[in-house]
Amino acid sequence: MTNAAPARLDTDPDPLVEALASTLPGGVVVMDSERVEKYRHDRFEDLPAGHPRAVVRAQTTEQVQVALRWATEHRIPVVPRGAGTSLSGGATAVDGCLVLSLERMTGIQIDPDRRVARAEPGALNISVKEAAAVHELWYPPDPGSFRISTIGGNIATNAGGLCCVKYGVTADYVLGLEVVLADGRLLRLGGETMKDVAGLNLRQLFVGSEGTLGVVTGAVLRLVPRQGDVSTLVATFPDLVSAGTAVTRIGRTIRPAMLELMDQVAINAVEDFSPRGLDRDAGALLIVQSDAPGRARAEEIAAVERLCHQAGCTEVLSTDDADEGLMFVDARRSSGDAVEARGTLLAEDICVPVDRLPDVLAEIAAIGERHDLEIPVVAHAGDGNLHPGIVYPPGDAAARGRAWRAFDDLMALAPAYGGTVTGEHGVGRTKVRSLAAQVGADVLDVSHAVKTALDPLGLLNPGALLPSGDRPTTLGDTT
Ligand SMILES: Cc1cc2nc3c(=O)[nH]c(=O)nc-3n(C[C@H](O)[C@H](O)[C@H](O)COP(=O)(O)OP(=O)(O)OC[C@H]3O[C@@H](n4cnc5c(N)ncnc54)[C@H](O)[C@@H]3O)c2cc1C
Repeated sequence: MTNAAPARLDTDPDPLVEALASTLPGGVVVMDSERVEKYRHDRFEDLPAGHPRAVVRAQTTEQVQVALRWATEHRIPVVPRGAGTSLSGGATAVDGCLVLSLERMTGIQIDPDRRVARAEPGALNISVKEAAAVHELWYPPDPGSFRISTIGGNIATNAGGLCCVKYGVTADYVLGLEVVLADGRLLRLGGETMKDVAGLNLRQLFVGSEGTLGVVTGAVLRLVPRQGDVSTLVATFPDLVSAGTAVTRIGRTIRPAMLELMDQVAINAVEDFSPRGLDRDAGALLIVQSDAPGRARAEEIAAVERLCHQAGCTEVLSTDDADEGLMFVDARRSSGDAVEARGTLLAEDICVPVDRLPDVLAEIAAIGERHDLEIPVVAHAGDGNLHPGIVYPPGDAAARGRAWRAFDDLMALAPAYGGTVTGEHGVGRTKVRSLAAQVGADVLDVSHAVKTALDPLGLLNPGALLPSGDRPTTLGDTT
């Protein structure tokens, strides 16, 4: 793919972009460098970002189509973008690209009889939840970023979150999709029925495709009756191994609505950032919720307590008070900000079979020691989905080198334990090489074939999810 060099913004008007701006008037096309700058990075900040030639802030599907037809005509790469909360560099700009922001397409309609939400891609996850709640309905997927991330971004990454352990991930709630392909064609996939097996399941192909196959401009999301009352249990463990053992045992007999873990470094990061009264000396903490109906809730919580004691916990606290429970969940949710506040963060989200948690937690601690780095771990433990956050002092080049070596070690660790390099954040730009090592040459070849069929010029989010450039034929080629 050959692209003309990006024009220097402000000083050197770009005739191609000016032509686009005249087709999309009214401030849809942003060219001034200060505003464009805000669209270069996402939340994985330790990655070099390119300089976009412009940003399109689309308000309609037609505007998305116009922008993509223009990009195809002029061979301009396009980076689709929701709220830019990606923790894998998936929304990081590339040089000379058009950033296609969906943040202004925020419409939401609820149909309570059909139990669906029709959402535009820029609607925030929390806005869908709130709109559904008006009708006593619930949109369960709840990434830690649910207050700030968009439905389009959630779909493009197949976002997970805290309640997946019982309620599944974003893909489980996507009934219909409207997607614009790189050449501007509009696909309508699925619809408003609870079941639909007509044709290949292209709808799910786009879920988790990280903006590399098409741009989501609308979605029909399945809603469920609102969540019932919730009870919360917090258990303190002397070490990670006993906490991991408890997770495995709980999962064998109970389906909690939440099963989260924080290790000692994460607990202390949260306490340093905003004190919540967590036990700083605990080796690990589990936060478990049950939303089972009626008496079953108390029975589930009692069973969890028993299993935690059997695994060696030192203290258990449980509450039926929603606000008190929320306080602990908020402490867990604040861990992302708390860890980010400690330095430059390389976020990871490996996922392993649940019974391997104790071993993998021990290995992560060993990697931290080997590289002399702090690696706090929080985890959607019930899913085996771990978030080791590698932190180093900003500007310390030597520590940065060690941090990226630790990052690679963690990438190698997950497949070695039968797991995956990414459970929910996506491959983005940070895990492209690790993907190749995990899935192998044949899977990569088929993935490239799909990409080529839908985006033959390779314009959509180049460099994300799949290695760009020549198609690799052996793993050794995937540099
Ligand atoms: C504090 C914090 C906590 C988080 N917790 C979780 C968590 O628990 N679980 C989890 O899964 N993630 C989590 N994340 C990561 C992130 O929020 C999710 O990946 C989220 O789904 C990204 O949504 P976004 O709107 O910010 O998308 P962006 O970051 O803008 O984009 C993400 C990817 O989606 C593509 N994309 C965006 N919109 C579209 C569209 N309309 N069409 C096609 N492609 C599109 C982009 O090109 C990019 O590849 C967390 C992030 C933060 C900062």
